[in-house]
Amino acid sequence: MDDQMMTRPLPLGSIRLTDGFWKEKADLVRREVIPYQWATISDQVEGAVKSYCIHNFRAAARQVKKRGPAELCQSSGGGKRCPEDEVPAGQQVFERWPEDPAHPDRDTFYGFPFQDTDCYKWIEACAYCYASSPDEKLKEHVESVISLVSSAREADGYLDTFYTLTDIRKRFTDLRSFHELYCFGHLTEAAAAWYEASGSESLLDCARGFADCIIAHIGPEEGRLHGVPGHEIAEMALARLYEVTNVKKYHDLGRYFLDQRGTEPNFFRLESERNHTFNSSVRVDSLDGKTGEFIPYSYQQAHMPVAQQSEAVGHAVRAVYLYSGMADYARMDKDKALKDACRRLWENITRRKMYVTGGLGGTHIGEAFSFEYDLPNDTAYAETCASVGMAFFARRMSQLEPDSEYADVLEREMYNGILSGISLDGKHFFYVNPLDVWPLADRSDQRKSHVFSSRRKWLGCACCPPNLARFVSSIGQYAYTGNEESFYVHQYISSEADFCLGGKKLVMKVESGFPYSGKVRVTLDGDPSAEGKIAFRIPGWCRQPVLPLKADGCSITLSHGYFELTGRPAGLSLSFDFPMEAVFLKADERVREDIGMVALLRGPLVYCTEEADMGPDLHLIRIDPGKPVRCEEGKVLDEKVVLLEAQGSRILPDEDGGLYRIYSKPKIRKATVRMIPYYTWANRMDNEMKVWIPEAES
Ligand SMILES: [Zn+2]
Repeated sequence: MDDQMMTRPLPLGSIRLTDGFWKEKADLVRREVIPYQWATISDQVEGAVKSYCIHNFRAAARQVKKRGPAELCQSSGGGKRCPEDEVPAGQQVFERWPEDPAHPDRDTFYGFPFQDTDCYKWIEACAYCYASSPDEKLKEHVESVISLVSSAREADGYLDTFYTLTDIRKRFTDLRSFHELYCFGHLTEAAAAWYEASGSESLLDCARGFADCIIAHIGPEEGRLHGVPGHEIAEMALARLYEVTNVKKYHDLGRYFLDQRGTEPNFFRLESERNHTFNSSVRVDSLDGKTGEFIPYSYQQAHMPVAQQSEAVGHAVRAVYLYSGMADYARMDKDKALKDACRRLWENITRRKMYVTGGLGGTHIGEAFSFEYDLPNDTAYAETCASVGMAFFARRMSQLEPDSEYADVLEREMYNGILSGISLDGKHFFYVNPLDVWPLADRSDQRKSHVFSSRRKWLGCACCPPNLARFVSSIGQYAYTGNEESFYVHQYISSEADFCLGGKKLVMKVESGFPYSGKVRVTLDGDPSAEGKIAFRIPGWCRQPVLPLKADGCSITLSHGYFELTGRPAGLSLSFDFPMEAVFLKADERVREDIGMVALLRGPLVYCTEEADMGPDLHLIRIDPGKPVRCEEGKVLDEKVVLLEAQGSRILPDEDGGLYRIYSKPKIRKATVRMIPYYTWANRMDNEMKVWIPEAES
């Protein structure tokens, strides 16, 4: 593998958003989303589902103080072992809520076993905000929350309020289903971010302590559990912890999790047998998800060793988190087999299993990837977190080998699959992001019980809102990557970025009209002797990019979808134009749901049509892709957007006849089909929406 090609994001704080679209979104996170999410996880928002996240930390802190370390035992290795009969067999209750939500018991755990992660993601989002704009009040608040988190630690560094409050003896007994390693992963991501942003090691201490506790229990050594996380994220978190601390054992633990997953004897099988939850009557390698109670190993991507995997299967968020960790380790360890697996999985997703919006997960059964080309629009799962995870994976693939296809998919996620998860006011959220919505069906049809036609104030399982907040507040981490000799501009975001070429400092200023105008202006200042390569992505959707013809002191080449300058770039001023025309898309013919349908794309934005503009019964609308599309500046609420108007028709209901009639050509009337950016839908009313629209007969 070529070291010269591998890149890293810039350090936090070396990118300043200056204005435009992402500055506004990041400001929304800072101004509205962070305070709002703090209020929700502390159960202070009237009318929102209660979280009990902070409640659990407070209860756990009291419990740890009261109980002390004496009662702690270790399920394997490294210390006193619980007698088998002291660890009750079988699983715990997965979801716990108080009978009276207004009066929870102060010492009881509520929510899901992964409730702690909402707090960690909130801290992580705060870290990115703090890095870009240090605010002492915010720092004080975060440190006070970290102090609470620290006080919920067990004496040996273990930190998971679910087990502390339910039965600490059961920790590490159900890695498959009970998320303690997932909680560890989010704790570690937040800890690394807060350390990088503020220099404070307060949360990093918690992450290191928990990591050390895990190492005492899990690993290849005899007497330890040969276990892996049921919900991946620890892999990429440990890669980050290693890169922040340079402590090799953290690298090795993440590597162990990757190498151990899917090997025989399958750890999850051994664990199920031990817990008496193993069901031998069910084929454990089944992919179909129709087996009822038993979840196949593919749900957790544990059906075969990860380096051998080629098809993206199972729970979509788990999958893309795993692939992100694989890409991290492929880069750090220069592991070609792992990199090849990442590439195969990438191609499988992007060519066969991804919605046009970037959504992942064709089925709600297991919140999972469906079979190839199965991409139903109305029952789509397309969880916001899966799009966030795909953005993680895309950036890591860019880091491994620059190719504009990775940044193209990342862009698709940024502007569509991820942003649709949040309302324009920053206070309402989607978990599932369908492409075809009929509110009556979503309310009435059990098969669509996962689909909502309007965003919620909060969610019982609230993984998505804080995930989205940490992504948006760290958007600079997705715009640029570099190494000693090269600097890549993957996304056009108005910002200033400090970076080095050959150890010499440069500052790049980008003024970008994205996502509504493709005009981009770039200036480079700094050390005139700085020498190397600067590469600018040519977006895949742009058919006729207008690129600089010359750049003084630099040679120009085109490579892997990037416009590259090589030489001494200080003092350069460059203009790019990536004209954004509205274009119709069609899907591969194997996508049965989309046959005969078109979608509209303009620049990086996918468009949709909504009842608010077109009235009810959107299924009667047809669109003519042979006719020109009008673009005009407009608004969705206060959001400045470019609106599209396509030409088409509406089928008129036949007044005569019953449910079925002798065929006659449908009566139609001409219609102008108004389209808005997909990310802005469901902000004006609870209403119908469609991305794919049947083609009109011309
Ligand atoms: Zn989620």
